[in-house]
Formats: sequence, C-alpha cells, structure tokens
Amino acid sequence: MQADRQVLNAALYARRQSAVARGVGQAHEIFIKNARNSEFWDVEGRRFIDFAGGIAVLNTGHLHPQVIEAVKAQLDLYTHTCFQVIAYEPYVEVCERLNAMAPGNFAKKSLLLTTGAEAVENAIKIARAYTKRPGVIAFTGGYHGRTNFTLGLTGKVAPYKLGFGPFPGEVFHALFPNELHGVSVADALHSVELIFKNDIEAERVAAFIVEPVQGEGGFYVAPPEFISGLKALADKYGILLIADEVQTGAGRTGTWFACEQWPVAPDLITTAKSLAGGFPLSGVVGRADVIDAPAAGGLGGTYAGSPVACAAALAVMKAFEEEKLLQRSQDMGAFLVEKLKAIATKVPAIGDVRGMGAMVAIELFEGGDVHRPDAVLTKKVVTEAARRGLILLSCGTYGNVIRILVPLTAPDALLEEGLAILADSFAAVA
Ligand code: PMP
Repeated sequence: MQADRQVLNAALYARRQSAVARGVGQAHEIFIKNARNSEFWDVEGRRFIDFAGGIAVLNTGHLHPQVIEAVKAQLDLYTHTCFQVIAYEPYVEVCERLNAMAPGNFAKKSLLLTTGAEAVENAIKIARAYTKRPGVIAFTGGYHGRTNFTLGLTGKVAPYKLGFGPFPGEVFHALFPNELHGVSVADALHSVELIFKNDIEAERVAAFIVEPVQGEGGFYVAPPEFISGLKALADKYGILLIADEVQTGAGRTGTWFACEQWPVAPDLITTAKSLAGGFPLSGVVGRADVIDAPAAGGLGGTYAGSPVACAAALAVMKAFEEEKLLQRSQDMGAFLVEKLKAIATKVPAIGDVRGMGAMVAIELFEGGDVHRPDAVLTKKVVTEAARRGLILLSCGTYGNVIRILVPLTAPDALLEEGLAILADSFAAVA
C-alpha cells in the first residue's frame, strides 16, 4: 500500500491484494456494494459521487431503469447461441442502428464484439483484408487496448506495454497534434510524411487509427484541420481512416459518434464502453465495401454481440432519444468547463481546462508551468476527493490530467456537489 493513498475498505483490499494478480491495478481502494445513476455506496455504506463512470461506460448511469428492464426481459428468452450458429434479431437491430448513426454518405455495415480492444483488432483486420496492405499508423499518446496487437498500436509504454513485447510489426507512430505541449497540426502531418519517407512506403499502409479525443492519453482533442490533413493523405495513397471511438462514442462528446463533428467521415469506427450501458459489447461500423472484405467466417467470436448486451444497447439508444441525452452531453460539457474554469482561477496548478461535449479534463502543472506536469499533485487531489466522497480518474502520458466522465443522467445538483468537493480537495492539499 502506498502512503499517499487511503484504504477505505481495508479488510477486503487486503484479500484482494493476496488473491488478485498484481498486474490488475486499482485506482481507488474502494469496494462497491450498490449503485444508482451517478452515485454508489461502498461495503461500509459510504456514499460516493461517480465522476469516473466506469471509465466512460456509464453514460446512462448505473442501473438505468430501462436498460435493466430490457436485460431482465432478454434473460427470460435466451442468453446465448453464438450469433454465428443461431442468429438473433437484437444483434441485427444494433447493427442497423449503428449503420444509421455513423457519419458518411455511403452504405454501411457493422459487426459486434465484446471489448474495445477486440473492436480495434477487428477494424485493423478488416482494413488489411480490404487494402491487402500490412502497415498501420497510430499516434503518440494514443491508447487502443491491452491485447498484443492493440498494445502495439498504443503509444504510451508504462505501465501498459512494460515487459509485454515483442509487439507485431508494421505499426508506426506519428505525432498527435498537441498545441499545449508544442506539437502543431503541421508538425503532426509532417511526421506522417516522414514515416512514409523513412519507414514504410505510403502504398504499403492500410490504415491510420486515431482517437477523436485521446482518452487514456490525456483528453486532447484532435483538431479538425488535422483530421482533414490525414484524410487528404489517406485519399492520396489509398489508406483507410479508422476512428477509435471506444471512449468517445455513445454520446459522450455531444454527438453519438465524436467523428460526426469531423469535417470528413472515417471509413471505419470502433465503438464499445457506453454502447451497452455497463454490459460488455463493442463493434465496428463503417463502409460496407470495406467491412465486407474478409471472407465469411473470418470475423466474429463465441460471445461476440451477446444478446443480453444487445438488448441493453437498444435500451441505451432509446434512453438517449427519450431523455435527449445528446443535448444533455453538450450542455453538461459547457457547464463543467465553465465551473472548472472558475475553479482554475483560484488554483494556479490548473494550466488547462478542455474537452469535447461531456468529455472534460483539467491538466495540472507545477505553478501552472506547462513544461512541468504535476502528477504528484494530481494523485493527491484524486485521493483527497475520494476521501471526501468524489470518484475521479487521472490520465495522460505524465499522469497529470484529471478526467471527468460523469453519467449524462446526473442531475445538475450532483455535478455542483462533486465540483465543490473537487474545489475543496484542491484547497485541502495545496
Ligand atoms: N480504445 C480506446 C480509445 C480506449 O479508450 C480503450 C479503453 N480505455 C480501448 C480501446 C480498449 O477497450 P477495452 O478496455 O474494452 O478493451
């Protein structure tokens, strides 16, 4: 146990430490007993406000009544067939809905899987099958999952990649634009050209894979000019553009897919996390001609597109319509940014407040100097907030970003309460 952390549920935490693999980390030493919408209670009955949302999984909150009702109804019918053995309508309907929501003026198709990493792996398989090329270009600071191939795509080394290599070849990392840290859009696009020049010919690259907002990397938004520039290179050389929307998708950024706000449509989109409101479901949606490149039987998996998760996903989509959650995502984002900027005026360490829709973050620096990321203060604030009943998550290459992924169903009063705890936590650790 680290001295700068507070173990709230000590007995269970001790059992966890001796029974569970060390590699499975845990941001907070807290064990949940029950939850509702944007709050949960620990095994000792303490209440917490959830600004972490299960890492972007709970856009419709814990136990959304319609989602739970849909899952219970599905449990009375069947729980599993493997879609590739006996098909079921909820899978088809989720695909139809994704096809209808994805941007781009072309015919679309989808496939469903279970985890975000699987969606990314499948998008790459499809891109390679379609282009008949091996190369993939990902970006510094990007995060794409924990399987061997997706780790290869992931930019950040520690702790994700440490000791797990070698990773598959033909993967290259270009710079992700980050004005705050001195990487312009022109620099980033130039780095792609350098890869073409030095590492792999453009004609051997199958795809670019990019997050509309880097999630684990620190909530940096991909500028529209960067996306247009990538698309121009993609069109010039016959390369596909993949949007990894595992964290940004399902309404988090104010539109169902963040790439709806892009100037151009990607060829493929990966989705997961909040898609099924807490049940494991992921997917790839995109150009029908591209998605249909692999031969029948080449894609899928035993649990891929579980009927229970599909039922949940359809209920999530219905809740978005009925509760106008896309509008809520935009409004909540504006509200959070305004309030966080007000907090920042009193906390010099907060050097940036940013986001897209309700995917919002603050970045901390020693004395506000952008050359000195402050991971120590970040950890202290996150720990202090948890002690006071607010769950936050950090992220970023330097661990100095606090991200907010509060359920879109959270009432304003709860946001205010959480933000007040955040402000108090800064005051307490300063
Ligand atoms: N891509 C992105 C952008 C992600 O944020 C994540 C998870 N944080 C993944 C892929 C991997 O998803 P999963 O953990 O469900 O495999």
